[in-house]
Amino acid sequence: MIQSERVKTNSSLGFDETGEYVLYWMQSAQRIKNNHALELSIQLANKHNLPLLVCFIVMERYPGANRRHYEFMFEGIEVLKTELNGMGISFTVQVGDVKTLIPGFSKRASLVVFDDAITRPLKLMKEEVEQLIQKQVFSVETNVIVPIETAYPKEAYAAYAIRKALQRQAAYFAIGFESSQLKNKSIIGNVPESVHLESLFETKLSHLEALPIIKLTKGGEHEALNRLKSFVENGLEHYESVSNHPELDATSHLSAFIHFGQLSPITVYEEAMKSGQNAAGLIEQLFIRRELAYNFVHYNPNYDSELIKILPDWAIKELARHRIDERPYVYSLEILEQGKTHDSYWNAAQKEMVLTGYMHGTMRMYWGKKIIEWSKTPEEAFKNMLFLNDKYQLDGRDPNGYAGIAWCFGKHDRPFSERAIFGKVRYMNAEGLKRKYKIENYVEKVRKLEDQSWT
Ligand SMILES: Cc1cc2nc3c(=O)[nH]c(=O)nc-3n(C[C@H](O)[C@H](O)[C@H](O)COP(=O)(O)OP(=O)(O)OC[C@H]3O[C@@H](n4cnc5c(N)ncnc54)[C@H](O)[C@@H]3O)c2cc1C
Repeated sequence: MIQSERVKTNSSLGFDETGEYVLYWMQSAQRIKNNHALELSIQLANKHNLPLLVCFIVMERYPGANRRHYEFMFEGIEVLKTELNGMGISFTVQVGDVKTLIPGFSKRASLVVFDDAITRPLKLMKEEVEQLIQKQVFSVETNVIVPIETAYPKEAYAAYAIRKALQRQAAYFAIGFESSQLKNKSIIGNVPESVHLESLFETKLSHLEALPIIKLTKGGEHEALNRLKSFVENGLEHYESVSNHPELDATSHLSAFIHFGQLSPITVYEEAMKSGQNAAGLIEQLFIRRELAYNFVHYNPNYDSELIKILPDWAIKELARHRIDERPYVYSLEILEQGKTHDSYWNAAQKEMVLTGYMHGTMRMYWGKKIIEWSKTPEEAFKNMLFLNDKYQLDGRDPNGYAGIAWCFGKHDRPFSERAIFGKVRYMNAEGLKRKYKIENYVEKVRKLEDQSWT
């Protein structure tokens, strides 16, 4: 089911009768299941008895992306190729400039479908491409449960502001569907063959920083669905009570799949609800917190650039009042990046991220709070956190990351009791980690990963 609120179109340009196919430019929803953009493309193709061409563009210099991100994404694209072809859908993967390639493919199309663009790089690209296409374009929001502007008409102050509105709309929007069958499966001629993804690392992507990684998982829709199944069967029941323990492996590890659009949040939502287990804790993160992050990035264009324009007034005032407070330690980006501070818990968190592309959620909070404490200014802390998070996390460059980092500075939060450097912005310390968790076990877990990285 495609709710009309998900779809926007430049309706002044109608269906082009001379077109040979429907074109879907797949970029942020790299999946088949519960992909409303793919479904709309199939339905429109069926309505006009046309074949469907899906194209995916590998951008050589996507802002902030390095080899670990591309590899994870390519693993998913390889699977998609087989799956889409099995559905009678033509799929081509090209490398290069979207502003040339998409308008090129659109020349022979009757209409064009885009999927979501939330963060700045893709949003700008899509706007520019749309200007260059002389065809009707349908833009489909498929990577959120409730479309952002339908959920809430402005930037939400905190989760409480948006929670009820989201919950109220879930019954209508959190509905999965079976993909329609494409009727016209004729082969589309003169479509350039897909590039060979692996060999791109020796050619057009040879400039990318390698950043070796201990793979916790392969990328792709199959892996995502398997992981979800195993989490619902074995982890969901205890998620609410233990997911904040860094020493346990008690979270879903779905964030990278969701980030690349290999898994729909609707699929996760439905599977969790269907299981009959207590899903409240997971739904709070996956649905409320995640869509609060999307609300933030959609309505606040400064999400990754200017602290003063993203924080609530009270937090700006508190950080300013404590700007001159003496910092007990001040670390450069290099020391932080190497995980060589005096704090073994923090170093373990940094190393977990560098080695595996993942950091436990509780440690992400601690990690961010400590960078604030150990930086000369909040602005420097903000810059370094964005850099490290987006470089190493497989799920980096995501609205969740921008909201999570802003949260460390008081965004979407409330004042707490006053202390140095932070003022009334929430503070976290190592004692808290020791008191609440078996934090030494977490350090040991990361140490074993380090050993593994040498072998
Ligand atoms: C400083 C900081 C940086 C962060 N950077 C990122 C990032 O780059 N990318 C990213 O996806 N998340 C980020 N988060 C949010 C959160 O920590 C991760 O989404 C979560 O730890 C991922 O692990 P999981 O999939 O096992 O999560 P689970 O606990 O299993 O949660 C299920 C899903 O819910 C969503 N989710 C969970 N926690 C949050 C949250 N706090 N806010 C929004 N959505 C959430 C994610 O999509 C996640 O996959 C950051 C948080 C902080 C404090």
